[in-house]
Amino acid sequence: MPDVPTATDLARAVQARETTPQALLDAARLRAEAARDLNALISLNDRAGEQAARVQARLDAGETLPLAGVPIVVKDNLNVRGTRTTCGSRILANYVSPYDAAAVERLTAAGAIIVGKANMDEFAMGSSTESSATGPTLNPWDPARVPGGSSGGSAVAVAANLTPVSLGSDTGGSVRQPAAFTGIYGLKPTYGRVSRYGLVAYASSLDQIGPFARTAADLALLMNVIAGHDPRDATSLDAPPAFRAGTPDDLRGLKVGVIREALGGNTPGVEAALKATLDALRAAGASVTEVSVPTVQHAIAAYYLIATPEASSNLARYDGMVYGERVPAPDAVTSMTLTREEGFGREVKRRIMLGTYALSSGYYDAYYSKAMKVRRLIAQDFARAFAGVDVLVTPTSPFPAFRRGEKMQDPLAMYAADVDTVAVNLAGLPALSVPAGFETVDGVRLPVGIQFIAPALQDERLVALAGGLEGIGAVKVEPAPGAEV
Ligand code: GLN
Repeated sequence: MPDVPTATDLARAVQARETTPQALLDAARLRAEAARDLNALISLNDRAGEQAARVQARLDAGETLPLAGVPIVVKDNLNVRGTRTTCGSRILANYVSPYDAAAVERLTAAGAIIVGKANMDEFAMGSSTESSATGPTLNPWDPARVPGGSSGGSAVAVAANLTPVSLGSDTGGSVRQPAAFTGIYGLKPTYGRVSRYGLVAYASSLDQIGPFARTAADLALLMNVIAGHDPRDATSLDAPPAFRAGTPDDLRGLKVGVIREALGGNTPGVEAALKATLDALRAAGASVTEVSVPTVQHAIAAYYLIATPEASSNLARYDGMVYGERVPAPDAVTSMTLTREEGFGREVKRRIMLGTYALSSGYYDAYYSKAMKVRRLIAQDFARAFAGVDVLVTPTSPFPAFRRGEKMQDPLAMYAADVDTVAVNLAGLPALSVPAGFETVDGVRLPVGIQFIAPALQDERLVALAGGLEGIGAVKVEPAPGAEV
């Protein structure tokens, strides 16, 4: 199997005039066409050709661009001017973005070409990319299984090599978990590291944009482009990015803490991948200890009592008046009611009801306000753990990709799929899912991810670590069966 070119390779080749942005775009469109069955993309960007021409003109004028001509896909909750931004929902089926999200602006300024918009769970609520109005995305490792979610389309775009890199969003695990299920890297940066301007809000205090990639070098390349301060996002951090893929030297003396509470209930393949990763780290000179972060056991409960109230507020704007679809009716209230009834899917409605309930007078103290206290305890627990270690480790998910349909009728089982990821968002920390092995289930080889968590603002440490793990052969990235090359 030929080597799959990375974003780093492609930008270099374009800059060296070995290929052109237009040629890379044409090739990416052909691959997207050939992989239609996976349903990774909701739409293609009609203006990508114009973008390619603009990048070509800039190169001809002598500019050097870090992502020169690199084709990229972004999740369909990121606004790209002139494209439909549906968030996987019927209510936004025909909504066309009048502006670019900050992260998209930065990508295009760096020379990237936005090829298309990736499929996702409706409004980023889910762990399987089955709830999209456009239908489910399939996992290229086994089309009967989910790619994870909610950024499943972005993950599959990279795993199936439609594009070398992509962007997703992670509110409770939606970049890391699909990265684990499809065998690639997925990084959730520190809250505020990447501007949320132009990212359609799900739960604003948790949402963060993050990249998918196949190599640490590509993660560094992308983060150096998309991270940084933006005055249009009041929570955006003024932390100048300096990402680099590390080497095995970065592993020597590294203090790694395995979170004890994440050690139970994992499948044998997940346990084996965790053990192999820890053994490799020890062999490279890292120290590995077990640490307790007891409150993570309450993370799922707290998360759903914080995310759903925020969602219920954020989604109040879809009333058929300003954005998206409108069902006409003789009076405004009936029109709003019918619009929301027809426009939102089951899971979104469930969350609006849960969130409204948790915020309502009489229940606020018992639910929302309690969950906020638990959130603070979780953050304190992490801070305590980081007093003794440089990074924390857990599996990204207790199991590899599950079958389509398996959890759709059981919302609590679906919520539990994020047991290892949501605490990180509650604490605002950066975390990276590293493709670390495979587990054979019913005769099919499925990828397994291991999650590394760093203290706030230490995102760079995770990317350096990833490069180190690559250097010692502990990262297991392979082309998915049938991936286009
Ligand atoms: N699966 C979680 C949820 O449904 C996380 C989603 C996300 O990170 N966007 O809320």
